[in-house]
Amino acid sequence: MSASTLTPTALITGASSGIGAVYAERLAARGHDVLLVARDRQRLEALAADLQARHGVNVEVLAADLSQPTDLSHVEQRLRTDQSIGVLVNNAGIAMHGTLAEATPEQIDALVALNIVAVTRLASAAAAQFGKAGRGTIINLASVVALAPEMFNAVYSASKAYVLSLTQTLHGELRDKGVQVQAVLPGVTRTEIWERSGLDVAHIDPRMVMEVGEMVDAALSGLDSKELVTIPSLPNAADWQALITARDALGPNLSRSSAAARYK
Ligand code: NAP
Repeated sequence: MSASTLTPTALITGASSGIGAVYAERLAARGHDVLLVARDRQRLEALAADLQARHGVNVEVLAADLSQPTDLSHVEQRLRTDQSIGVLVNNAGIAMHGTLAEATPEQIDALVALNIVAVTRLASAAAAQFGKAGRGTIINLASVVALAPEMFNAVYSASKAYVLSLTQTLHGELRDKGVQVQAVLPGVTRTEIWERSGLDVAHIDPRMVMEVGEMVDAALSGLDSKELVTIPSLPNAADWQALITARDALGPNLSRSSAAARYK
């Protein structure tokens, strides 16, 4: 296996700040060339210069608004056709707060376009290219609210449950093709997402807030251990396994020719 196969180029969405910027730094430190995607070209170029200087890897900036069809299609095509890309960090996302009744159509559309449509289209492009090459890694940023939707806003939580579900299905589709898939479920992580969505992280109990470097390092440790689902703050991995075991127990009874006796 050549060095470039072992450390293929990583395309990271939402690389201009927060979790995506730390992934870019950590993957560059591991020797990956990186392709940085977000809207803010200036911030991406500053990060690119820093990563090139500190890690000596090639860094390319691709400014794109992934909620816009033309920009999304451009990034998608790049991922589908550029065989040097072997890692996708499907990270760009936005949050919102308030009840579903209070949400404006524009807020709902923007969140669904980025957190669901763009994530799905990029995962699909990566699945096609990586599957054909017989190698690759897809990391999808979900959230713990995928498991605890009552904790947060309805549209955001549902979008993250979607990302978890997408990842679990994708794993089944790709596991025999040499492609690794991971869903990362962070809890509250100190990034700009909070102020961008009009919330102040300072109002959250600090015992619930993780620093972004610690979160990404834990997620990469989970990736190295080949975890399908990584919950960085969960102390006991057996708790997640217990949930999967309970879910699997439902399996044989989820689709049957007759309704359960209590409904008759
Ligand atoms: P962040 O600091 O606000 O970063 C979001 C990134 O997405 C930025 O680079 C932003 O860059 C980019 N972005 C936003 N809108 C975009 C668009 N339309 N097109 C392209 N890029 C866009 O937030 P973060 O906390 O790092 O979030 C990263 C991911 O982690 C998200 O999917 C989020 O849901 C998830 N997450 C975060 C937390 C948390 O507590 N922080 C917890 C669980 C999950 P530009 O503005 O330059 O476009």
